Amino acid sequence: MPPANSEKKKKKRVKKNKKKAKDEDFDEAAGIVQKLKQRYQNKKEESEIVKDPIISNGKIVHPTRYLSIIERGQRAQQSRLQAPDPPENLIETKWICALCQRYSCSDNLGDLFGPYYIELDNTKPVPTFLLADDVTISKTEKSSIACFLHGRCALWSENLYFFGGKFSKLDERLYKYWDTLCELCKERGASINYKENLHSHFYCLYILGYKFDNSNLRITANPNAEIII
Ligand SMILES: [Zn+2]
Ligand SMILES: [Zn+2]
Repeated sequence: MPPANSEKKKKKRVKKNKKKAKDEDFDEAAGIVQKLKQRYQNKKEESEIVKDPIISNGKIVHPTRYLSIIERGQRAQQSRLQAPDPPENLIETKWICALCQRYSCSDNLGDLFGPYYIELDNTKPVPTFLLADDVTISKTEKSSIACFLHGRCALWSENLYFFGGKFSKLDERLYKYWDTLCELCKERGASINYKENLHSHFYCLYILGYKFDNSNLRITANPNAEIII
């Protein structure tokens, strides 16, 4: 058995290490707070605010408010530039979910994400339900459409994965869903295989009381829903 004071030393060391880790955590958090302050807290001291344009050392000094408007405009321009370029021959589509065909924020479905550009496959049926009215598609030329998805519709879709900032094989997956009729509403775009050989939209299952557990990505049937199906 080790002597009692060695045990004490050990405890002290553990305590010291814990304190060190705590200090490091604190320093890290303080660093993050500092960075966030630098980035977002652009409140200026009263003395720094320029209300009206002045001329100082022969140069015009614009009002602070004017400069912040210009800066905001530049930032908006920059984020617009970072959006993907639309492909050539882009066919006009409706701003609806490419799966459940509902609008943004309808029935608690949340925002629509996108656009995700999909090149149409001339050998497969055209997803006409997504196209704007009076649009015709050439079967010989290449064309693309802009697709949008509700977050929840995408999250629960079978074999659809978001990785590295994009959905992998989205075109292939969408064609598969567009080829599948929903067991409940009979519309295309059914992406959830909720029962053997039966597919549905997220929305259609949700209104039937199906439970969607995000923590383990499990769908549980509402016992009363069986009668309706
Ligand atoms: Zn949807
Ligand atoms: Zn449906």
